Amino acid sequence: MENTTVRQKKITAEIVAAYSQCPRKGFLLLCTDQRGEIHEYMRIIRERKEANQNKYTCNLKEAGYSFQTCSITDRKFDSDYLENSTINFNHLKADYDLLKRIENNSSSQKHLYEPIIFVGTHNIEKEDKLKLYFAAHVLEKTQGYQLLKGTIITIEQKLHTLKLTEAKNKLYPFLEQLLEWKNLLRFESPAIILNKHCPLCEFQNLCTAQAKQEDNLSLLNGISKLKTIQKYERKGIFTVKQLSYLFKPKKRRKDAKKSLTIRHQVELQALAIRTQKIYLQEIPELPKYPLELILDIEGTPERQDYYLIGLLICEE
Ligand code: SF4
Repeated sequence: MENTTVRQKKITAEIVAAYSQCPRKGFLLLCTDQRGEIHEYMRIIRERKEANQNKYTCNLKEAGYSFQTCSITDRKFDSDYLENSTINFNHLKADYDLLKRIENNSSSQKHLYEPIIFVGTHNIEKEDKLKLYFAAHVLEKTQGYQLLKGTIITIEQKLHTLKLTEAKNKLYPFLEQLLEWKNLLRFESPAIILNKHCPLCEFQNLCTAQAKQEDNLSLLNGISKLKTIQKYERKGIFTVKQLSYLFKPKKRRKDAKKSLTIRHQVELQALAIRTQKIYLQEIPELPKYPLELILDIEGTPERQDYYLIGLLICEE
């Protein structure tokens, strides 16, 4: 593949976060022009993030803080906050939701800023932290000043201050691979390994179609890691069809106790796909007791709260 696309593109926080979710996603965003349709959930999260940002900045403006919208490289600013700024630094491009002026303890006279980012959720995911680390990294390079902290504001307008001491260790492994792609003249796209992020990924249709065409092992539940795929490849197994021939039904003694937990067998799933049949690993049996308690707990995992707890007591 020619690298005309990658030569023009810059590495952004979105690309770093995408690479952390799936190297192939990072590759497609940085090195190709292919784009898929943004998932509805991601669209909602983005809208919520914008609403969160607008509400917070409006409150600050009403409270009398000064704002500017400008490039930090202009060096013509002294406001309390800079909004919607962009910094380009070599191969990196950082778009800032908000920059907050901090006290300048260095000898230089210029004003220093630290990053604030907004999210559309109650939780902070590892991708959000990476985005903050990336924002701080580019800012440090431009300001020539090591920042100690940055802030993430969640949807309920709660401020989470993160120390940046760990930032380099977390960010650099991803940045190094992306920078390598930028510097290479030719490169291979990372292999498809379908994973838990795929249902929300804009490339889902593209990757699933290609995975089916390749009869890719990651089409099977439980094979979503490079290490697992490499384990099969070392045995000469590269496709679902090949794996299906490895299934051997286990002989069971008649008096053997039935286990309540049934281990998922990828070989059997592969066989089911090859033969287009349904197999039962074991006939499920529900144990019956004279007194049974059925507990139902419902909640919102994102908020980590529960709105319903029910207990049903069944006798005889
Ligand atoms: S669909 Fe899955 S495998 Fe493809 S780029 Fe997205 S996360 Fe990676």
